[in-house]
Amino acid sequence: MKPATRMERIGTETAFEAAARARALEATGRDVIHLEIGEPDFDTPRNVSEAASRALLEAGETHYTAATGIAPLREAIVADVARWKGISTTPDQVVVTPGAKPIMFFTMLALVNEGDEVIYPNPGFPIYESMARYVGGTPVAAPLREANDFRMDVEEVASLITDRTKLLVINSPHNPTGSILTEADIRRLAELAVERDLVVLADEIYGRLQYSGEPLSIATLPGMADRTITLDGFSKTYAMTGWRLGYGIVPEWLVHHFSRLVINSVSCTNAFAQFGAVEALTGPQDDADAMRDEFIARRALMVDGLNAIPGVTCVMPHGAFYTFPNVSSFGRSSAEIADHLLYDAGVCGLAGTAFGKHGEGYLRFSYANSRENLRAALERVGESLAKLERTGELVGSS
Ligand code: PLP
Repeated sequence: MKPATRMERIGTETAFEAAARARALEATGRDVIHLEIGEPDFDTPRNVSEAASRALLEAGETHYTAATGIAPLREAIVADVARWKGISTTPDQVVVTPGAKPIMFFTMLALVNEGDEVIYPNPGFPIYESMARYVGGTPVAAPLREANDFRMDVEEVASLITDRTKLLVINSPHNPTGSILTEADIRRLAELAVERDLVVLADEIYGRLQYSGEPLSIATLPGMADRTITLDGFSKTYAMTGWRLGYGIVPEWLVHHFSRLVINSVSCTNAFAQFGAVEALTGPQDDADAMRDEFIARRALMVDGLNAIPGVTCVMPHGAFYTFPNVSSFGRSSAEIADHLLYDAGVCGLAGTAFGKHGEGYLRFSYANSRENLRAALERVGESLAKLERTGELVGSS
């Protein structure tokens, strides 16, 4: 018996595998500080959990909902994107999904034909490349370089566009580098999309966690509303990763296809969770704001701490909750260094190459962990890398 050949084309998100290896190490009695997974370490705001709990226990919201989401949530999303992104849309164009990830999958399934090219940031969220390839498309990497503040080089993107290019994926603030696209970048990318007739998938999941400048949604620029799928969700802004709640703002001509994909795959998103999401958007924002403030403080702690380690340099990220330190001076691969730090120092980070080949030379450390743990992790990383320099001995899993 054999799986379908298309399964050879699917990738994965290494963070989950790294976390599993870290847990296996913990099971042997080792202490591990987790800086690998991209999820806030805060609890979901209590008012949100209470709203979902009322929907579950009191209102009996335990049945299928409309495929694209309950009306109050789609209305709340319309108001929220108007407020935070300046996007003017209607509830009919909102598609609620279990997490934001399905929006990536649905975008590729609905748009990308065999051989169509998809330009995406590399390093970048690994699912863009994986899904583009899985549906038979050709992922085309737009390299993000430290020398360009890990922003997409828009003129390079222009040079990568061919007659087969169908889709451009952008992500600002960016995972894993924490970079942001400038207003000029976004304006130029929009011009290119219009000139070359591209659809844009704008992954704005970290939009509320941008720490400098004003976020600009590409969907608001001339000619873009009808060619942009804006992806966002609840996982990061409201510490709701396990709830599985996200959404897309989808052009009118595509929304019917997205709805079909929802019906074919999941029918709808969890009913009572959607009521929690309404509260997240319409209730007090104090917890989300406090989380953001804490991330800003931790960002400084991490960046300063990493730059104080001989051989490591780290640029200041402008959003999300990741640092992307350069460890190329050690002359080892990112994967070797990430392994060394897990098994020698008990600090679990990710190799930059978990986000594509242009991540070589870097590690990703999430700062979604307590300041105390971040300080301890920095100390351990510093000692372990100093030992590596001294002895030349890499510690691995065996
Ligand atoms: N987009 C980016 C850039 C991410 O980093 C993530 C999660 O790590 C997602 C989208 C998906 O988020 P979720 O499916 O949890 O809503």
